[in-house]
Amino acid sequence: MTDEELKEVQAAQKGYTPRNFIKHFITITHHKLLVGKFCFRMGLYKQGILHDLSKYMPTEFLNGVYYYLGFKSPIVSERLNKGYSDAWLHHKGRNKHHYEYWVDFTRTSSLPGGLTPIRMPRKYVAEMIADRVAASRVYHGKNYTPGDSKAFYQFEKNHIPLHPKTRKELEFFLNMLEKKGEAYTFRWIRERYLKK
Ligand SMILES: [Zn+2]
Repeated sequence: MTDEELKEVQAAQKGYTPRNFIKHFITITHHKLLVGKFCFRMGLYKQGILHDLSKYMPTEFLNGVYYYLGFKSPIVSERLNKGYSDAWLHHKGRNKHHYEYWVDFTRTSSLPGGLTPIRMPRKYVAEMIADRVAASRVYHGKNYTPGDSKAFYQFEKNHIPLHPKTRKELEFFLNMLEKKGEAYTFRWIRERYLKK
C-alpha cells in the first residue's frame, strides 16, 4: 500500500452507519454479480451462483460494514485496526476460490511456519481469475485497465504461499488477461483449460 492509500484508509468513516451499510451491500453484490457473469461464461454455473455467499453472514457482513472503504476491501482496514481480520478468517476457510483455503501446515515443509500450499483444482483457479478481474473492476471503476489484476499480483507475489503449478497457471492467465482481454481469456479457460 502506498502512503497516500494508507492515509485514505485511516481517514475512512468507520462504523455501523446507514451509509456504510448500504454502500457495502451494493459493493459486495455488484462484485458477486460480476463474478457470476464471468463464471457463467466459463460454464461454471454452480460456482457462479454460490460465489462469496459467506459475505452475507454476520461475521463478514458486519465487519465489512464497519470497515467499509469503497476503493479497497474492508479487510485491509480491519487488519490495520485490529492487527488481523475476523471477516477474512471466516471467509478463507469457506471459499475454495482463494489459495489460502488450500494451505495446510506441516512439520516437513521447507517454507516458514510449516506452510504447505496444495495445488488448486482447475475450476477454482478459474473462479479465482473471475474474482480478481471483478475486484479490480469494482474497486477501480472507470479507471480499470486489463492489466490491473496482474499489477495487483505483482505486489503480493513474493509474499504468498502458492503451489508451483497453481502459481504458473495464475500467472499464465494474468498475462493473457493483460494482452488478450477478458472475453478471450474466459473463452480460453472454458474451451481449453477446463476441458482437460
Ligand atoms: Zn471470495
